[in-house]
Amino acid sequence: MIPAAFDYVRARSIDEALAHLQQHGSEARILAGGQSLIPAMRFRLARPSVLVDINPARELDSMTMDGVLTIGATVRDSAIERAAWIGELRWSLLHEMSRVVADPVIRQMATVVGSLCHNDPAGDWTTAALASRAELVIRGPAGERTVPIDDFLVDSFTTAVAEGEMAIAARFPVPDDRTAGSYQKVERKVGDFATASAAVQVSLAPDGTIRQAGVAIAAAGPCALRVSEVEALLTGQKPTADLIRAAADATSARSEPQADLRGSVEYKKHLAGVLVTRGLRHALARLGVQA
Ligand SMILES: Cc1cc2nc3c(=O)[nH]c(=O)nc-3n(C[C@H](O)[C@H](O)[C@H](O)COP(=O)(O)OP(=O)(O)OC[C@H]3O[C@@H](n4cnc5c(N)ncnc54)[C@H](O)[C@@H]3O)c2cc1C
Repeated sequence: MIPAAFDYVRARSIDEALAHLQQHGSEARILAGGQSLIPAMRFRLARPSVLVDINPARELDSMTMDGVLTIGATVRDSAIERAAWIGELRWSLLHEMSRVVADPVIRQMATVVGSLCHNDPAGDWTTAALASRAELVIRGPAGERTVPIDDFLVDSFTTAVAEGEMAIAARFPVPDDRTAGSYQKVERKVGDFATASAAVQVSLAPDGTIRQAGVAIAAAGPCALRVSEVEALLTGQKPTADLIRAAADATSARSEPQADLRGSVEYKKHLAGVLVTRGLRHALARLGVQA
């Protein structure tokens, strides 16, 4: 199918994009990588009458590391995959995740911020952003605000970006050098959304206990889900096989997937626990801990 008729405007700056959003209100949609929006328009699931293309806005195409990793709204997934710092231990969660989002062709166009704004229940970026404790920078007519990812993800395909606003960047705290992570995804084939996935990030204290844990799962509810029970269970504890088993059980219990072509509810709940187990083991092994 071809999309319903729409107008197309190019924004060369954030101000220009906001002016277009102001002018067209709820009729307008931001176009970033277009990898989700254009298919949705072709299936007539979305019918915006104006697309505001933010790709010409050079100020959105930057990535900086200054105590925090700031990823501008037109930075592509592929730029993360190729970044010089991505191989560092502390970025192992984003490293593993960035190589399994969709497929390499889609990653050339899809943007990190667009993926967060799309907020698919099985999204890889939203899941990793929860475990990393990322935040989004949103700008609108009333100015700029920074929203933690937990508050940003409101419901399936719905975020805290209000009418007339846009997300201009995603910010990821730079983990310390006693931090490692892992992203575990089961997909039917390369390029598919997750049947289930788990993002794990663990920071160790000098005495070997877990100082901070980030654990999130995808395809387990209306949007990516922080498993706060498991984060609390892990924090302050010495990593052991028993602790990981308890984390897996708590994850399976918390997961609320829907049955579909990818699997039954029971299978997906079990899988969520298995993937958290694998993620914790991988992250801890990277820090030299066998559990
Ligand atoms: C075949 C296929 C397989 C895929 N597989 C996966 C997968 O395995 N895992 C996964 O996580 N994703 C997957 N995706 C989704 C892909 O990664 C999307 O492109 C991505 O989620 C959206 O990014 P985008 O830059 O293309 O956004 P767009 O398609 O341009 O926009 C998506 C939505 O976000 C809004 N938006 C975008 N940027 C902003 C902004 N700065 N401010 C406010 N609103 C904004 C748009 O208005 C639109 O509503 C897949 C897509 C396809 C087509």
